[in-house]
Amino acid sequence: MILIDGKKAAAELRAELKQEVAELKAKHNKVPGLTVILIGDLTPSQIYVRNKEKSANEVGLKSEVIKYPDSVEEKIVLEKIKELNSDKTVSGILVQLPLPKHIDKQKVIEAIHPSKDVDGFHPMNVGNLSSGYESSIPCTPLGCYLLIKKFEPSLNGKKAVVVGRSNLNGKPMTQLLLKENCTVTITHSKTKDLKAECLEADIIVAAVGIPELVRGDWVKKDAIVIDVGINKTDKGIVGDVHFEEVSKNVKALTPVPGGVGPMTIACLLKNTIDCFKRSQI
Ligand code: NAD
Repeated sequence: MILIDGKKAAAELRAELKQEVAELKAKHNKVPGLTVILIGDLTPSQIYVRNKEKSANEVGLKSEVIKYPDSVEEKIVLEKIKELNSDKTVSGILVQLPLPKHIDKQKVIEAIHPSKDVDGFHPMNVGNLSSGYESSIPCTPLGCYLLIKKFEPSLNGKKAVVVGRSNLNGKPMTQLLLKENCTVTITHSKTKDLKAECLEADIIVAAVGIPELVRGDWVKKDAIVIDVGINKTDKGIVGDVHFEEVSKNVKALTPVPGGVGPMTIACLLKNTIDCFKRSQI
């Protein structure tokens, strides 16, 4: 079994992006800028945002974090987004989720101009992705896609099973695999026989949020398995795939931690740079 090393792949991607930022700076005399809006004091969100800022600085992006208290009014946030939309030094805008209950998530997502939507959540980008046009692609599925492609450059005709149908992960993942000519089955909580579906798959992407759901006897021996899950358990952080069992039976597997996670942030940087490049045309 080959362990797909997301930490190493993310470090390589960051090195490429750093080089690209240096070239863009030389050409345009400015660098792409990422602005993150953080609302409230949820610890995981603060950690994610800190990591995003650190990685952005590392590759040479201009990065800024705007913080609001939990009680901030929705209209203040929407006004700030409007201001950032027309700020030429800002290439990408990200509002860290989850949001406090009194703020309408969809309104916030739709307020971000699609050309600066580095999370790829705006309906325009969702539509462009599903139509096969250029778009910002949600960072986690993009990271999974890059890991799969690095391991297996041609996915033509492969059977892929995506476990989970969230807007964040499962749905965009399905679109990316379709674009690569996979035959894709998307499964979810109401799927009748998940094991039987997984047993058919050359590629499994599990994005569910249930610790160790995918078991060793659910997989084909030449399958590639990508584990998106991050689940806190008594024995520490585990994925949606039973690592010990599945690692004995497949061709390749991502670990948790150290698999998809590091690629997610690297892809946010990539999306910011891609937004900048599109804005310079
Ligand atoms: P979500 O809760 O939005 O969606 C979960 C999906 O799983 C749903 O579509 C649901 O239908 C499906 N599901 C639930 N029970 C199921 C079952 N028994 N069988 C099959 N499908 C079932 O979750 P999400 O936001 O997509 O996140 C999924 C996991 O990925 C979580 O563990 C989350 O922490 C992790 N995550 C990781 C990263 C990363 O960077 N690695 C990023 C985002 C999310």
